[in-house]
Formats: sequence, C-alpha cells, structure tokens
Amino acid sequence: MLAPKKRDHALARRQLYLNYGALSLATVLQLQGHETRLIHGEHYTPDATLMQLREFGIFPSRHPIMLSIPSFYALTWAQSFCQLVKRTDPEARVIVGGRWVVGPDPDWLRGLLPEADVLVEGMAEPIIGSLLTSSPDLRKLAAPTPGFTLNHLLVQGHLRYQPSVEASRGCGMGCKFCEERDIKLDRIRAPSELAHSMALVQEQYGGADIHPYLQASMFAANAQWGEQLATTVSELGLNIEWRTESRVDALTPRAVAALARAGLKVVDLGLETASPAQIVAMKKARDPDRYLASASKLLAACRENGVRVKANILLYAGETVNTFEETRSWLDDHASCISGVSVGPVIAYGPPKTADFLLEDWERLGAHPVDPLSKHVSGITHMHLSKDFDSGAAEAASLNLSRRYMDADSYFELKSFSYYPRDYTRADFDQDIERSNLEKLPFRLMARH
Ligand code: SF4
Repeated sequence: MLAPKKRDHALARRQLYLNYGALSLATVLQLQGHETRLIHGEHYTPDATLMQLREFGIFPSRHPIMLSIPSFYALTWAQSFCQLVKRTDPEARVIVGGRWVVGPDPDWLRGLLPEADVLVEGMAEPIIGSLLTSSPDLRKLAAPTPGFTLNHLLVQGHLRYQPSVEASRGCGMGCKFCEERDIKLDRIRAPSELAHSMALVQEQYGGADIHPYLQASMFAANAQWGEQLATTVSELGLNIEWRTESRVDALTPRAVAALARAGLKVVDLGLETASPAQIVAMKKARDPDRYLASASKLLAACRENGVRVKANILLYAGETVNTFEETRSWLDDHASCISGVSVGPVIAYGPPKTADFLLEDWERLGAHPVDPLSKHVSGITHMHLSKDFDSGAAEAASLNLSRRYMDADSYFELKSFSYYPRDYTRADFDQDIERSNLEKLPFRLMARH
C-alpha cells in the first residue's frame, strides 16, 4: 500500500499483514514442483519492490509476475507497479488476482489496470498451475479450505511475519456490510490436522516462539472440537499461543475454555454495535437481545480463561447520538473483559456494480457518500452516516471510543501479538510514538484515573 488503510502514522506503517491467500497459491505452486517466492510490497514504493525483484535475479523473467491485490487500499500501489513493470520490460507478463478486488467487476478493474495481461476473478488454487502456461484456465472454480500447511519459507523475510494457519473459509451469516455475507461457511478443518499444521509452522520458524493467526472469517468451533484440539496440542507437546476471529454468538463458554487450553490467547470479536436498532439494520442478528446476551457470556468466559478480547466496532449508516451511546454504555459495562477495540465508520467497498447495492440501503437509513465518484475511481466510498455523524464526526467519535478502552500498553500488546514485526520491541514502539502524529493514535498515552 502507498499509505496505511485507516490512519497514517509511524506505528501504522510498522504493521505487517501476511497475505496468506497469496501464500496458499505460492504453496500450491511449490508443491507442484515450481521454484516460488512471495514478496510483500508492505509500505515500500513500487520502485523499491521492483528493485528487490531485480536484486533477487527474478526480474526480468520469462515467467509471469503474479500480483495479488488483497484490498482496494492496495490498488493505487498496484497501478504504479504494473506501469513500472511494463515500462521496464514491455515483454513482461503480469497476472493479477485478489478475489475481493478483481472479482466484483473485472471490466471495471481492466479500465484501471490496463497493463495486466490476465485478471483472475476467483480463488486460484485449482487453476494456479495453468497460469504459468500460454493457455490459462480462467474458470471460477470452488476452492475449499486447503488441507496443506502454508509454507512460510516461501515468504521473503518470513521470520519478520507472524504466521497463519487456515482453519476455515467463508461465513454466510448475512451481515449487510460484509463481503463474506453470502459465501457459505466451510467445515472447520479437523483439530488434529490444525495442530499438526501449527507444529509444522513452528518448524519453519526453527522452533522459535510464534503466534499464528488461525485464519477464519468466523471461527466456529464447538466444545468437543476444542477439546480435541487441546488433546492433540498436548500430545504433540506444543506450547503455542494463537489468535483467531469470530462472532460474539459463534463460540460457547465451554468452547472458549477448551480453546484456551489449546493455546487461544487473543480473539477478535466482530461485535460491531450494541445498539439493538443497529444490530437489526446491519442484519447482524435477528434477535438483538439474544445477540447481546451471547456477547456478554462470551466476554465473561474469555476473561475467566485468560483470553484477551479485541472487539471490532462499526459506526453504521443511520448512527445517531443515541445508538452510539448504547454501544458506549454496553462497552463500559463490559470494559473489564475487553483488552482493546478497533473502531471505524462503515465504508462501501467495490466498484459501482457491488457498492450500489450497499449505498442504496444506507441512503434509506440516512447516510450518503462523501464523494459519489470515488466508487468509480478507487472502489472505496467513505460515508456521512447521518445528521448526527458526518464523516468527520464519525472519525472523531471512533478515535474517542478507541482511546476510552485502550492505552499504549494494551494497544502494544494486541498489535505486537500479531501485526508488528516479530523483532519489534516496546522500545521501538515508544520511539515510533514520538515520531507519530499523536492526534491520529487510537489509544491514550496517559493512564485513566
Ligand atoms: S459474521 Fe463476520 S464474516 Fe460473517 S458475514 Fe458477518 S461480518 Fe462477515
């Protein structure tokens, strides 16, 4: 990305996101016998990244450059990179994938990325080998959760990144704002398979301490599954703390207790809101009371079992002072169970073909786009949420809410668990705070009294 996706400050530029979708494809190619390397653009410029490829002797090449665009925030970077590649070597073949960015409307993307020779719309595991040939198979085929272990050794500088282990794909719970709303949930991988993958990943890191992210849009393990994972983890003698993401009503307290024994240490929970009206507006759940009751039980279970909770909060279309206060008050009541929050206003992602469906719904709720043309240009539409919250007020309220529940210690703990380079220290963090625009930091610097 040319700039971090939320707020641009020195700390945000430290974050590393392993593109585990691209790593899955690299792993398939390697298993098929190809020599493969995965390089992350991170926050380097396109020039610096191309320079890296040259230094490694892999550009120019008769093989294609496969470029994965994981989010619309990476699109401007990808545009510059593709132009640069073609300017430097007009013969180069560029294949672009990234299901969330290419999939919604390939014709729209072609207009923005004319240098791409091939656009791949869906999940590429079943066809990735054919993309190396002169007759690529571009069918959109099903790609269930792979059973293999991601090979992190293929990632340039892999030791800096916390690793990933894929647990399941899809969700299908219907939340209006989410791209996974209609994508059916795969069955979660067998616990013994996941435990063995964790062990293999630790080997890839030379036996060092790792904090894998067990990737799932909705980690939905029951207590029995958790027990089996705890048993296998103990049989293998693993001592690995891991993190995952789920809904507040998808894990029972018994499941949390078992998962904690299996190493679960941090869970990202998509609470989104505690306003009953907003829960319904988002189509997060049909019965808000039941939803919030489940959330309370899960948060208590996490605290009892030593699992840190990071709650994701979404200021939604139609948000009012009243609905915002409902969420704040609920979070206050549960503050002792929460280690941190991630708060932001809802954004419509995608070109007109997919964004319009959201924008029509949100306009009915009283929201309107900040720039009606941005969906055409960037695939990112920021919103004025309501009369109470224009986009500036929504951003200010988001920052205030973040700071209410997070200080520098809790922020560092959560970020360094998964997203900062593995060798990034608290002293580095403190230095970066000094270099940051303090007004943009989502945590408070002083302890509250
Ligand atoms: S539960 Fe989470 S992943 Fe599933 S549709 Fe809702 S927001 Fe998306």
